[in-house]
Amino acid sequence: MERIVMKFGGTSVANPEKIAHAAQLVVGEVKRGKKVAVIVSAMGKTTDELLALANEVNPNAGRRELDMLLTTGEQVTASLLAMAIAAEGVEAKSFTGWQAGVTTEAIHGNARIEQVRAERIISTLEEDAVAVITGFQGIDAQGQLTTLGRGGSDTSAVAIAIAIDAAVCDIYTDVEGVFTTDPRLIEQARKLEEISYDEMLEIANLGAGVLHPRAVEFAKNHQMPLRVRPAHIEGEGTIIKEEIDLENNLIVRGVAFERDIVRSTVMYDTPYNGSLANIFTTLAKHHVNVDIIVQTIREDSQPSVSFSIKKQDFAEVVKVLEMNQEALGYRQVDFEVGLAKVSIVGSGMVSNPGVAATMFDAMRNASVPIKMVSTSEIKVSVVIPESDMEKAVTVLHEQYELAGE
Ligand code: ADP
Ligand code: ASP
Ligand code: MG
Repeated sequence: MERIVMKFGGTSVANPEKIAHAAQLVVGEVKRGKKVAVIVSAMGKTTDELLALANEVNPNAGRRELDMLLTTGEQVTASLLAMAIAAEGVEAKSFTGWQAGVTTEAIHGNARIEQVRAERIISTLEEDAVAVITGFQGIDAQGQLTTLGRGGSDTSAVAIAIAIDAAVCDIYTDVEGVFTTDPRLIEQARKLEEISYDEMLEIANLGAGVLHPRAVEFAKNHQMPLRVRPAHIEGEGTIIKEEIDLENNLIVRGVAFERDIVRSTVMYDTPYNGSLANIFTTLAKHHVNVDIIVQTIREDSQPSVSFSIKKQDFAEVVKVLEMNQEALGYRQVDFEVGLAKVSIVGSGMVSNPGVAATMFDAMRNASVPIKMVSTSEIKVSVVIPESDMEKAVTVLHEQYELAGE
């Protein structure tokens, strides 16, 4: 009999009624003859609430204790959903990440899954019971509980789907599927029937919270069919797979955006050697993720390098640069806050030069100033003022005719 994975996000299990509804969806699949492993997120905003609680008790709480706290959120949902499934007359057992054999690297707060030893889940399924497993967590080699980073339950779901050789990994959420852009910001956003792993990976990495990027990466590496579907209504959702219909191969498939971007500019008095490596090695040592980097070197001007970071890393970057000013040999550093990154993504770009040019034109016509640019084979990103973000997304959505008829 075919095995499948069903994953329910926080909004889809936010209260007892929604948990009962999720249980009915699971029982529906069991009745259709499937063996079902279910992965759950914490109820509603539980993870945020737990973080706020920790912050009240100790604003500098250690990451180990934060992981101890956060893993409880998913455990509540797993047991409640198993009870709700039992109430429908179907046997169900809940498991924490470690009980389900999910092992991770030894990093708190953002661990990668290393292995899933799925014997216990498989034997549960073989006994004709539903296995309900906590998402977002695992255990490291020292027996410490770890979490996978915000939104990480998607990654738990895909990793478990691969380990149990599931036919599909269904991600149930609060929207009808993957859209051309966030339907909560742009009303004209259109649901996509399908999208390739590569496009989805870019969109996820560029700020669309709909899937955890690592989930897409795992799915691609193991060719696991992924589907994003609505939990609250009937719907086939969006299929994410390797190759998609050529006919649908639009140049631009979607627009992604990310708020809270900061641009840092480091200025030097004189030309220098090796400074780029020095700055970025120093920042990497402090686990700061640098995104877009722009450097101009001209004989007739003082050299400078600009790079973009997330606001959450801002304080750390200020501290690290200040502490190392002498070693890095720069004169001054400037920060510009209140920026956002808007990106267009589509695999058709590879064979269509000039996409970046049409994007810049659209921004100029809308009087949106571009602060930084970055491109890859299948995306173009611009950093712009956050106050222009919604306008920019709307304009680009129209420019590339993403709304359809
Ligand atoms: P869950 O709790 O189910 O994991 P998330 O909040 O993590 O749900 O992800 C779903 C949300 O992703 C949607 O509510 C939507 O606002 C947002 N989103 C951003 N970009 C997109 C997109 N391109 N398509 C669909 N949803 C998107
Ligand atoms: N509960 C976790 C979070 O809110 C994990 C998840 O929902 O995927 O980030
Ligand atoms: Mg999510």
